[in-house]
Amino acid sequence: MYKRWIRRWLPVLIFTLFIILYVDFQLRTSSLPILAEVKQQSSGARLRSIQKLSSSSSSSSSSSSNTGDAGNGAHFTHGGRDPSGSVTQPRLKQEDIYIAVKTTGRFHKTRLALLLETWISRTKAQTFIFTDAEDEDLSSEGYNVVVTDCQTDHSQQALSCKMSAEYDGFMASSKRWFCHVDDDNYLNPEALLALLSAFPQDGDIYVGKPSLDKPITAHELLEGNATREVRFWFATGGAGFCLSRRLAEKMAPWASGSRFEKTSATIRLPDDCTVGFIVERRLGISMVHCPLFHSHLENLLLVSQRSIPQQVTLSYGLFENKMNSIEVKGSFSKEDDPSRFRSVHCLLHPFTSWCP
Ligand code: UDP
Ligand code: MN
Repeated sequence: MYKRWIRRWLPVLIFTLFIILYVDFQLRTSSLPILAEVKQQSSGARLRSIQKLSSSSSSSSSSSSNTGDAGNGAHFTHGGRDPSGSVTQPRLKQEDIYIAVKTTGRFHKTRLALLLETWISRTKAQTFIFTDAEDEDLSSEGYNVVVTDCQTDHSQQALSCKMSAEYDGFMASSKRWFCHVDDDNYLNPEALLALLSAFPQDGDIYVGKPSLDKPITAHELLEGNATREVRFWFATGGAGFCLSRRLAEKMAPWASGSRFEKTSATIRLPDDCTVGFIVERRLGISMVHCPLFHSHLENLLLVSQRSIPQQVTLSYGLFENKMNSIEVKGSFSKEDDPSRFRSVHCLLHPFTSWCP
């Protein structure tokens, strides 16, 4: 009797369960785009999701999946209207990015020359070289050179002076993004464009990589020589970072003209910390932590060869008297190419005339 009941009703039960599951699946998938859109429209949510992703990805191989995520958001920036009907910004192009390179006279023929030969050869028109010494060769070759009257040393004041000039140079342009790099950075413009395209183009974005694993503590100088402890994240200048125009405009009261150096003096910290201080403490906007930027303060051997095309910046430098550079098999030996930038460039652009 019981068996017969089971035999009769079991197929009906299974069928009903199947119908419920099917309807549930349909409802979920049809509401996904709406959910995704709501998420994308809130820049805050976007920041948090990238922050979460980057903090959970400690190795650079997993960081490449982060770009994939960033790439998924790219539809947000396409021209015209998005599916909800609101007007979106036109698609971001290479020419919309202002790339500022910080250098100094004594590095023109060494560090800078390597960049001109490699990545700057592909971004000449949008790249602006901020230095402290006239260079006939540079100007005659048509590079955008800004000769500042900043001091030529590595002091907090000299470096802040150059950063201030970079900021003012960007503000005077009509470009949509400001990106800073040092003269020991390799920048991959395609990876940079993919990253920046994934952000809401009218958002307040400050993206880069911190060199510390916690916020820096500064002692902000107040009136009457009093000080106040302030904590904030900042993107290491030596790994490069970017600011959206909307955010850069909001920074003006603390960053334009002579104000940047004044702000830097208030916290007695270098230029890159000053940018973090203005964004996080003066404006209350959180930095986006992105693992695709690299300085020589981190172990560059951890950048996997497979992930190189997705990395936005690379670097090189001496660490404890040994060369810290990325590991890349290819065109040039470590003796001929200690920074590995030539090898990276030939990996990314094998048809370059000087690539073997
Ligand atoms: N720099 C400068 N003047 C100097 C030394 C360095 O403008 O006297 C610039 C240099 O061109 C680079 C940045 O400051 O873009 C960082 O310098 P470096 O890589 O030598 O030092 P780091 O701060 O990375 O240890
Ligand atoms: Mn450096």
